[in-house]
Amino acid sequence: MNKPPLRTRLAPTPSGLLHPGNGLSFVMTWVIARANEGRILLRIDDIDKERCREEYVADIFRTLEWLGLDYDEGPSGVADFFQNWSQETRLGLYENALRELQQQDLLFACTCSRKDIRLASEDGSYPGTCLQRDLPFEGDKARSWRTREHGHFVLRRKNGRPAYQLVSLIDDEHFGINYIVRGADLLGSTEKQRYLARLMGKTPFLSSSFWHHPLLTDAEGQKLSKSQGAGSLQEWRTLGRSPAELYQRAADMLGIPGKFEAVEPLLKAAKKLKVLPMDQG
Ligand SMILES: [Zn+2]
Repeated sequence: MNKPPLRTRLAPTPSGLLHPGNGLSFVMTWVIARANEGRILLRIDDIDKERCREEYVADIFRTLEWLGLDYDEGPSGVADFFQNWSQETRLGLYENALRELQQQDLLFACTCSRKDIRLASEDGSYPGTCLQRDLPFEGDKARSWRTREHGHFVLRRKNGRPAYQLVSLIDDEHFGINYIVRGADLLGSTEKQRYLARLMGKTPFLSSSFWHHPLLTDAEGQKLSKSQGAGSLQEWRTLGRSPAELYQRAADMLGIPGKFEAVEPLLKAAKKLKVLPMDQG
């Protein structure tokens, strides 16, 4: 039986400058896809409009170019993104899904503020305060829509916008993605999205393969992120620092032996080893 071709995506969020962890994830996703004759979609997750900025969208394109990574589908640049590929263009899909879940009685409305939740719960997780209140889904007071189970996570935010977990799942379905590479910090998200997919009967997502890669750490084994002064990739470019370090980290994480300073030799080695990491179980 012929296996369907691998289809994966790069899915950055333009809410800040990309950091080395994003770059590493891009390189690994690209190498795996190209080593397996897969197709790559560039999907920029701009659903959180308040935090997304045009300069950060531009940073994504500059970073991909700097890393020497291409893709098969997706926006060709900033203008094309906003016009044809923004998640705004798929709002209807997300709203239909929300409506369906609501009609199947799988959601409830919640008017709790962050403060309410803090006061009601020791660990800051939502204790289900509004579950039994049976509030209408629309009303004067802003309300979020939450799932009835699985931690009651939010699918529609108080500002009426669909939330990340829903949008990411719908998009992966919409674009026929069947292999997802993401950092181990997103294991919780994957679990929520799989739960949602089961609710919605989204079988393709459930049969997708995942690889949650280890996070980039510094010499002390701490997770590298902007907040810890790892710097942005824009900063690397300004300093004239090359992406070679990221290729090497990618090789190490993918279990490809050797020294790599460019992406082409790394791809060649990955092809030879047929590198295709997946979560077990
Ligand atoms: Zn509530």
